[in-house]
Amino acid sequence: MQDCLFCQIVAGKIQAKKVYEDDHSIGFLDINPRNPGHTLVIPKKHFETILDMPEKEAGKLFESVQKVAAMVKTGTNSQGISIGQSNGQAAGQVVRHVHVHVIPRFANEGPVGLEGILPSKKIDDLSMDKIAASIKSASAHAHHAHKEEEPKSEKKSKKSEDISFEF
Ligand code: AMP
Ligand code: ZN
Repeated sequence: MQDCLFCQIVAGKIQAKKVYEDDHSIGFLDINPRNPGHTLVIPKKHFETILDMPEKEAGKLFESVQKVAAMVKTGTNSQGISIGQSNGQAAGQVVRHVHVHVIPRFANEGPVGLEGILPSKKIDDLSMDKIAASIKSASAHAHHAHKEEEPKSEKKSKKSEDISFEF
């Protein structure tokens, strides 16, 4: 995609501090690192979110992520690695080319995990059961390339109303 920043990095038109490359992915340092060595791993092909990727491509991306995670851990001498990935504006995705954050974590920075992204919420057991049922019955392929073809049934929209939250 011509006007995509990360496609331009893949094409070498915009410079990046590349630390990894294979047939399908590249890894380069994040320009605004959360820690020294914070690396982004992206597919060479343009997909906006993980849900837009064919299963095989997503699998390949995560094979690269695992390799980069090992390299970043050794290369920065960190004690841990956080892996983060945002899909869609609501999740805080800014660059619309799928990317996985690989962030080295150090013992002296304090154990900030998922709680640092979103504080946990109290959700009653009945609602938890409804959410579990709704997720279990959802199609894993509903958001793939065929999403336009998915019929929007009455049942589906009712289901999401049932489990809506007040924040
Ligand atoms: P996200 O908020 O998950 O979409 O993350 C986008 C990330 O891309 C941010 O952490 C940015 O610092 C990073 N970023 C934006 N532009 C560049 C660039 N030219 N080179 C490297 N990283 C970038
Ligand atoms: Zn792109």
